[in-house]
Amino acid sequence: MLDYQCPAKKESGNMKLRQQLFSDTEQFRLNLLIQETVLMKRISTTKRAAIKFATIALGWALLVVMTPAQAQQGSRSNSLLLENARLIIGDGSVIEAGSILIEDANIVAVGNRDEMNLPDNVTRLDLAGKSIIPALIDAHAHLGYEAYTSWGEQNYSRENLIDHLQRYAYYGFSAVFSAGSDPGELAFSLQRELRDDQLQVARFLFAAGMAPPGQGPNDQFLKNALALEQRTGMTILYGVGNEQQAIDAVSEIADRGIPLIKIWVDDRAGTQQKLAPALYRVIIAEATRRNIPVFVHQQYAADMPDLIRSGVDGFLHGRIGNDLDQAIAQQLVQAKAFVVPNLGLAELRREAIGEDSFLQASVPISVAKRLSAGSGQRQLKIVRSTDSETELKASFASLIEAEVDILLGTDAGAVPDHFFGYSGHRELEIFVRLGMTPMQALLAATSRPAQRLGLVDLGQLKPGYSADLVVLDSNPLDDIRNTRRISRVYLRGKEIDRESMSRKFSN
Ligand SMILES: [Zn+2]
Repeated sequence: MLDYQCPAKKESGNMKLRQQLFSDTEQFRLNLLIQETVLMKRISTTKRAAIKFATIALGWALLVVMTPAQAQQGSRSNSLLLENARLIIGDGSVIEAGSILIEDANIVAVGNRDEMNLPDNVTRLDLAGKSIIPALIDAHAHLGYEAYTSWGEQNYSRENLIDHLQRYAYYGFSAVFSAGSDPGELAFSLQRELRDDQLQVARFLFAAGMAPPGQGPNDQFLKNALALEQRTGMTILYGVGNEQQAIDAVSEIADRGIPLIKIWVDDRAGTQQKLAPALYRVIIAEATRRNIPVFVHQQYAADMPDLIRSGVDGFLHGRIGNDLDQAIAQQLVQAKAFVVPNLGLAELRREAIGEDSFLQASVPISVAKRLSAGSGQRQLKIVRSTDSETELKASFASLIEAEVDILLGTDAGAVPDHFFGYSGHRELEIFVRLGMTPMQALLAATSRPAQRLGLVDLGQLKPGYSADLVVLDSNPLDDIRNTRRISRVYLRGKEIDRESMSRKFSN
């Protein structure tokens, strides 16, 4: 595969801002135009909220690619050539001994170096023997509450959010979706800040949470989310007790410009009121009318068919097992609804993860010790019952075979000690253990979540995309555990300083 375009002649003069920002190559403008067209197709121009969604998504595509300082430099750009690496593109294809040309924050050429028109000032980095993947995306997490030595709403702050986004960057993630547990205004202001700032962290996405009044997340989480609402005076959870409230809440969410909705359909083993079908149908219909995707937390596979029929966009917990049968798999495919299997959440809490050097690099020694063997229920090698493993494998295989859109999501941060970034690599490992090929697992962690979350410039190594990528010492297609062998991480064209991050995290 060769995907290279010649740099176009530099333009000058009084052009529109966007043209100034993207004068690097003609191809680059074309790509943005395509992205914009795709986005505009998804929105209804008469709907305010929908336009805001496009603005937000495009804002990422447009603003992150060039900082004001870089824009002032005009045509001068920083060029970097990563050469001779195995390129795992993110669309299922691979280029052996390929090269990636990066200008400023973006990929401008991918393929055979000899066919590239390299700028004079290009910096070259020989990566022979290494593999490059698009930076990963976690499609289900909860940021802000975890502090590694404690968990709770008292930890939620701008600084803690940035710390979590840095941890994602450290582990090679370009973006994370925090699913319905963030105070809206605070989340928005952080997004704005990150867009303008030089901070090298993963992108932060969030959703409005919806459930019956005073209900939603697990009981411990709910208590904390409600306390956080109290402390900040901001809404996290939109309570819905009747159809009119459902319509009003979606309308308010749309007016605020929140681009995603998360609903909870779960009675938490009888301790909470479950969102009734009559209400979630209204929520989904109203959100769909306004082009706001709705993602659902559901406890049982039995709830999935009606949710799919109602038009939900995806499921944040796969509920993989016998109950998730062929019929549901087919229904998922036909409705184009995605599934986040979310298997590590249950599994990793039984494992002595504190003895894993990959985790040790990002936590204080005291935390690693607390999560080691002999501490609580944690075991070095967890014993899985053959029956449940067989059931998981069979269910997972049927999803893969039906080509259900499976996304990586971890639920990191929802409970204490389920850590950001680290858990994503472990989830990939579980995907492959249960029957995915490493390539399928990587797709589930790159282009697929990018598409579902409106991240139009992430998840693939292609011209026009943001240069967010991970250089690995070994080939993840041979062994998915090689995603842990991170050599370098680039976000928006700049290498992040993993060593100093690791020092900071482990102190
Ligand atoms: Zn969750």
